[in-house]
Amino acid sequence: MLNDKQKEMLNEFEGADKSHWNDWRWQIKHCVRDVDDFEKLLDIKLSATMRKEFQGITKVFPMAVTPYYLSLINTDDMENDPVFRQSFPSIKELIISKADMDDPLHEDEDSPVDGLTHRYPDRALLLVSNRCAMYCRHCTRKRMVGDADSIPDREQIMKGIEYIKKTPRIRDVLLSGGDPFLLSDDYLDWILTELGKIDHVEVIRIGTRTPVVLPQRITPELVTMLKKHRPLWINTHFNHPRELTATSRKALKMLSDGGFPLGNQSVLLAGVNDCSRIMRSLVHKLVANCVRPYYLYQCDLSRGLSHFRTPVGKGIEILESLIGHTSGFCVPTYVIDAPGGGGKIPVMPNYLISWSTNKVVLRNYEGVITSYKEPDSYEQTFCDRDCEKCDLFLSLEDADERRSVGIEKLLADYDRSISLVPEGNLRHSRRDEEE
Ligand SMILES: *Cc1c(COP(=O)(O)O)cnc(C)c1O
Repeated sequence: MLNDKQKEMLNEFEGADKSHWNDWRWQIKHCVRDVDDFEKLLDIKLSATMRKEFQGITKVFPMAVTPYYLSLINTDDMENDPVFRQSFPSIKELIISKADMDDPLHEDEDSPVDGLTHRYPDRALLLVSNRCAMYCRHCTRKRMVGDADSIPDREQIMKGIEYIKKTPRIRDVLLSGGDPFLLSDDYLDWILTELGKIDHVEVIRIGTRTPVVLPQRITPELVTMLKKHRPLWINTHFNHPRELTATSRKALKMLSDGGFPLGNQSVLLAGVNDCSRIMRSLVHKLVANCVRPYYLYQCDLSRGLSHFRTPVGKGIEILESLIGHTSGFCVPTYVIDAPGGGGKIPVMPNYLISWSTNKVVLRNYEGVITSYKEPDSYEQTFCDRDCEKCDLFLSLEDADERRSVGIEKLLADYDRSISLVPEGNLRHSRRDEEE
């Protein structure tokens, strides 16, 4: 399935043939890390300035691109190419804006054991690999890229698994990294088997960019191994429709035929995909390949990403162009991952324009304004969490026993809280002093 450009590139590797190109380990081994190889493989010449800048940037943020992903660059208009912009270092990465942070999402702080982030009540993020096939220039974990490019050892992963084992509230485990699919089949099988032994873990998710940058990694052997561990959800990371090549579509097909629900997490990137038409084409292509757009991320405040950030309004504009205009399952949830570790916060255009005690006024995607008459006879069921006395029928052996937190708590009938007050609120401290 090699195109002409890929065949030409392959000629640059002495003694290599198609079977090498299609072997993911060969692709990794021949990752392009320096500027000479980059020029040679693409048959281009970079300006002296670009070459010089390259040396400066890669000392801080190294480069690595698989020959396959490199072959997607359109050299006729290279500097505007979305694949080039995601993979080739830019001098702008050295601009540190005032808002930049090393670890904006506080992943290291919400980490009870090394390599595990426990942020939400019922799910945990386990970093199982430090390696990536390609170093995305927009990586949110840029702070870790290239340093100790090694796999967390069994002992560290086991500590994460032990933590999950003794925390029964965790029912969903996300494997990320790095890229979990850069681990060998056997090693990943071991991790999935250990997690599978934990009764309260109901689902496992894997976040991987290999279908985009190293589709050769999706082998029949990998799929056979993964099938033992269903229900397993796989999330990938396509940012531009150009990334859905014949090779990556084949990889996606193998995964969907394997019975894994597929999702996609894109990052909104200035100069790459901050355009409604590009996004619409992307989500349509994803869905045509059985991949459900899951999240569209606002670009994080990690160091060196300022040139990729867009205003939040750009994301809202994109959602406005999708909601109603295309299939509901084509529309990702647009989120800002809260700096300081507050988690993902969804952001949407407003559809609720006004309301009275028995009517709401809404607008649709076409701009049509409409009203919805609410029921006059709705009888509120007062909930005191005593299901025995309630007419509604929960009747589940394993019904969730947790109490409400956050805004949900303010809305709950059985909870008498009337406000949520930030810790250290001065007005409240004054009250305490007066008492
Ligand atoms: C994104 C994320 C999750 C999963 O969040 P979902 O909204 O369930 O997809 C879990 N833990 C951490 C630390 C995350 O960043």
